[in-house]
Amino acid sequence: MSLKRRLLPAIYRAIYLSGKVAHDGGITILSYHSLDDYNTPLSVSPRLFSTQMAAIASEGCPTFTMGQVAQHLTAKVPFPPRAVAITFDDGFANLATVGAPVMARYGFTGTVYIITGMVGRTTHWTDRGVALPPVPLLSWRQIEEAQQSGIEIGAHSVTHGFLTQYTSSELEHELCHSKAQLEQLLGLPVSAFAYPQGDYNNSVVAATRTAGYLTAATVDQGRAHLRSHPLRLPRLLVSGNTSPAALRAFTAPTIGPAYRLVNLAFRRLLGRKNWPRRSPGEVQSTDVLAETGAL
Ligand SMILES: [Zn+2]
Repeated sequence: MSLKRRLLPAIYRAIYLSGKVAHDGGITILSYHSLDDYNTPLSVSPRLFSTQMAAIASEGCPTFTMGQVAQHLTAKVPFPPRAVAITFDDGFANLATVGAPVMARYGFTGTVYIITGMVGRTTHWTDRGVALPPVPLLSWRQIEEAQQSGIEIGAHSVTHGFLTQYTSSELEHELCHSKAQLEQLLGLPVSAFAYPQGDYNNSVVAATRTAGYLTAATVDQGRAHLRSHPLRLPRLLVSGNTSPAALRAFTAPTIGPAYRLVNLAFRRLLGRKNWPRRSPGEVQSTDVLAETGAL
């Protein structure tokens, strides 16, 4: 057995136990993309997802929508121990066919971030020049059904482009039009946003606030606390090799700043492909490249 394989369970155990000792009042926001067997940087297999949800359930983790997260952050009310928010970026159709039934089994809720300009379409995305398998996205009807089943609907822009590269009017369109379209469909306020590609800066954050969003999720690795900026929320990126033990450990790390050090150690000592594998923020959409004239 390699050193790596022997070391990881011990690290996860230590983090897990640290979470048992004291509660920091924070919440772990999980970031999923597609539940498929393609083994891309965006993939978590249906089988692994099922095991991960079982692990969270076995810990008795209460789940929160991002709307509920906003309420806690605004009122500065600590989250209960082992609180988890399950989020899905991009709105892949496999959330409806694979994810939602598993979550319903455990009474879990979650939030899905929709790219409104791509609803009902199929992704044709690349990862460092290599084409990823096409995957269908949720239809408007499936989005409505997801909302009716208790999953909160958030926005993920109109075109999934890099928001920091837009003019202020383009940025406003990406933020406001996606919000308005979803609100019209659902008849409910949409208050949750996720930055496409994890791309944001101060101007984007300010525009997101002006657009009326209460929370915005990044792809920065970390755990959210009551002191976290609601429009710069860190998340735990879940990939196809995030073991249930790792997930269980990070549902309540009280080690605070040490989290970043552990994460750094994973990258430096154990290799980036171990955990987290790599940032989905590095995956580019061919749609975006086409729009910017790169294609
Ligand atoms: Zn995305």
